[in-house]
Parts: sequence; C-alpha cells; structure tokens
Amino acid sequence: MSTPNRPKHKHDLDFDYPDFLTWAQLPPFSGEWPARGWVFLADVVRNESFMRPMVRVRDTAGKEVLLAFYLDNGNPEAARLAQMGPGTMVAIKNCQAKQFMDGQIGIRLEDQDLANLKHLPCTVAKFKSMNNQVIRDVSEPKCERCGAADARKRCGPCKTRYCSPECQKADWRPSHKGVCQILATLRDYDEMFA
Ligand SMILES: [Zn+2]
Ligand SMILES: [Zn+2]
Repeated sequence: MSTPNRPKHKHDLDFDYPDFLTWAQLPPFSGEWPARGWVFLADVVRNESFMRPMVRVRDTAGKEVLLAFYLDNGNPEAARLAQMGPGTMVAIKNCQAKQFMDGQIGIRLEDQDLANLKHLPCTVAKFKSMNNQVIRDVSEPKCERCGAADARKRCGPCKTRYCSPECQKADWRPSHKGVCQILATLRDYDEMFA
C-alpha cells in the first residue's frame, strides 16, 4: 500500500554546490527547464553595507568575496539585506561572477536576482549536515518527534514527517521552528537537481 519513495537526493554537495573559483567559470544558466544548475553556498563574514547592502562572504574553499545588492529604490528587501550578519549564510542559485568598478570580482545581485537568493539562519556547515536529515527522511519515513514508523503527516514548507498533529505541534517551538526554512531550501534544491 505504500508507494516506494523515489530517491530525489542525487545532488552531490561538492559538485552542485561549487566554490567561487569553480562557478565563476561556469557558463550562464540557460533558464530552460528541466535543467541542472548550481548553487553557491557561502557564510556571511561581515556586513560592509555602504550606500547599498553589501556583505563579505566566505565560500566552501575559504575564499572571501564581496556580495553587493544593486536594488531599485524602494525595494522592501533592502533594509533586511543591509542587516545580514555573521552566523548566517547565503545560497544563490545559478550565481554569476561580476567585475565591480574597482576591479574586484564578486557577486552583484539586482532586483530580479533575489528570487535565486536564500538568506538562511545557519552556517554552511550546518546546512550541509542538515542535508543528511533530508536524505534520512526519504529512506526512513519516521515521525521526527517520536520516531513512530510510517508517519504520514508532513510539515507544509519542508515536508518533515510527523505521526500526528500533536507531535508536529510539540516539535515546533523547541526545535523545528529554527530549521524549517533551511530544510525547505534543501528540498527546493533537491527538486532542481533531481
Ligand atoms: Zn510522533
Ligand atoms: Zn517544516
């Protein structure tokens, strides 16, 4: 009666999530669907906002680059982006390298690029370790709270499994609230790389 779970976790964390030097040489993503892309992951090192939101980010190979936002006046995201700080990370789909006026190579995002950006409340190390939780969830459909087998209820955004509304509610405040957005992002990327 249960349908077998299709393995969706085909993405390779090192290949599909390349570092700056690798993705800077990748061809532009065609935008055609279905198509594989890539996701650039980086920890926010410090906020350097001046006139516009800007942060220094560190990629998975340890290289630091500037991420600058060139947004239209009145973009409601600008104030929040100007507050990005250490302990958070960015994940940018199909990221392209740009050369700035001062000659440095970095990342320039404009209004329409924000759809490809996730700003997450965790480090890249945590993000990668949480991918294991997503993979485990596919192979073992257990309740995240109590471990009951064949858990059928799922969290809307991230699809984490629960046996009952009671378990889902009990899990929210102590733990799930802080990770739901991160897990939902990993699930988005699973679809992209499937
Ligand atoms: Zn349960
Ligand atoms: Zn969730």
